[in-house]
Amino acid sequence: MGQSALSIGANTFAFFTRNPRGGKAKAIDPGDAEKLRNVLAEHGFGRLVAHAPYTLNPCSASEKTREFAHMAMKEDLERMEYLPGNYYNFHPGSHVGQGREAGIEMISRMLNEIMRPDQSTTILLETMAGKGSEIGGRFEDLAEIISRVECREKIGVCLDTCHVSDGGYDIAGNLEEVLGEFDRVIGLDRLKALHINDSLNPPGARKDRHARIGEGTLGFAAICDVICHPALQGLPCILETPQEDLQGYKEEIQKLRKEWEKRNGN
Ligand code: FE
Ligand code: FE
Ligand code: ZN
Repeated sequence: MGQSALSIGANTFAFFTRNPRGGKAKAIDPGDAEKLRNVLAEHGFGRLVAHAPYTLNPCSASEKTREFAHMAMKEDLERMEYLPGNYYNFHPGSHVGQGREAGIEMISRMLNEIMRPDQSTTILLETMAGKGSEIGGRFEDLAEIISRVECREKIGVCLDTCHVSDGGYDIAGNLEEVLGEFDRVIGLDRLKALHINDSLNPPGARKDRHARIGEGTLGFAAICDVICHPALQGLPCILETPQEDLQGYKEEIQKLRKEWEKRNGN
């Protein structure tokens, strides 16, 4: 993973802690983990942003599904300690008709059961598109979950540009207002990582269809405004655009980095 990231000029990356569709996790080889830690340190990587399987639903109506989310995330947090001090991002879940309040309660409860004060990993709640009964389409959802979490210093937010736009926050048209709103409701100090995606749909569409940078409704310039915003410097930026191969990501990183350097005067 470290080598592929290097080959495309990246200095962070995301990875799935297990099959993204769920299922059992492969055992970690401590030797491999050590090699990766060395590559990361040697090349000055920023923090990594692991992604929980997107099929996990901590606020499902089915107890079995909730228990699976609990088990998988608890295990993932233990595995993350092989790469200490990174981020573990997850989709809060869908309340599937049980109501927003019930969903938020179940998500917070699970977090309080699996989080440990001595964990080195910071858990990130992802801002969602608000598709169906998704929790996290509004900043208020995430603020409420955070307020109920006991290990407050180990919880943060990952902002997905496609998702917030889909959720009705016009990040391309009015970045300052959206960041101001984020700051008022959640607090910008909670923002730890960015998912950089263009969107196939207009703000408020609640569809969650990612586009390549510059090929969607957000556009290249607006996405550069996000990654160049003074309040967002130093945050790991993860591309989740529909690219066919590593080469596609390499070019996307180059284009974004070039613009960032131009605007920052080097
Ligand atoms: Fe995600
Ligand atoms: Fe995302
Ligand atoms: Zn998405």
